[in-house]
Amino acid sequence: MKYASLGSGSRGNATLIEHQQHCVLIDCGFSRKVTLQRMAQLDIDPAQLKAVWVTHEHSDHAKGVQGLCEALDIPFYASFGTARKMEWLEHPLWHCIRAEQVVTLAGLSVTPVTVPHDAQEPLQYVISSDDGYKLGVLSDLGSLTPHIVEQYTGCHALQIEANHDPQLLQVGPYPPSLRARVAGNFGHLNNQQCAELVARVSWPGLKKVTAGHISEKNNDRNRVRALLASVLNCLPPDVELLEQDTVSDWYQLAL
Ligand SMILES: [Zn+2]
Ligand SMILES: [Zn+2]
Repeated sequence: MKYASLGSGSRGNATLIEHQQHCVLIDCGFSRKVTLQRMAQLDIDPAQLKAVWVTHEHSDHAKGVQGLCEALDIPFYASFGTARKMEWLEHPLWHCIRAEQVVTLAGLSVTPVTVPHDAQEPLQYVISSDDGYKLGVLSDLGSLTPHIVEQYTGCHALQIEANHDPQLLQVGPYPPSLRARVAGNFGHLNNQQCAELVARVSWPGLKKVTAGHISEKNNDRNRVRALLASVLNCLPPDVELLEQDTVSDWYQLAL
């Protein structure tokens, strides 16, 4: 199994996962055209894409899902709350998923995990391949819970949100109400919370951590690197941060 980001941040998110020539997407917050262009940059043909899993209805995650899946005639998976908000309840390609109910497709078992975020029924995902690797994709959550720590334990790779630096958020350009939303328990994960989760789920098998959904206004990428380097025992330049407008490299899960 390998994975790559098609882009990550408040203007759009999508994570591509490939296993034995088949692909799935976690979220599609880009137009169909941009999504297919970025997949092509990673040498993925549209016919390889088998499904899209949606985390929640916010447009930076969901806006491209329906158009892409209709064009390719592939299913998309989302919670009832997300589907209701997106007006997908009657859509023939929508499949309803529930927290902790595993769906297996194309050699990948996808476990939806409940997270605290200000959406109708948000889920994040842990993806296990049939050859024994486990990838955790986690963004858009305001706080950590014991359940999240439990579900993301044992991952070989982790793509995790490092949204903001609390101090920079307080002095940043957001109005007080938006600032409170982002910093709240149902908002977004700050750098310290990100590092805390990485430290708590760290084990010798965790070989790759990529940080994403990094705010362009309320964060400093060097601070993210420094903090994660301290928990990963690596040098700050070796910490991989995702970009909003650029596809990442492929990250291969291997022992
Ligand atoms: Zn988001
Ligand atoms: Zn969100």
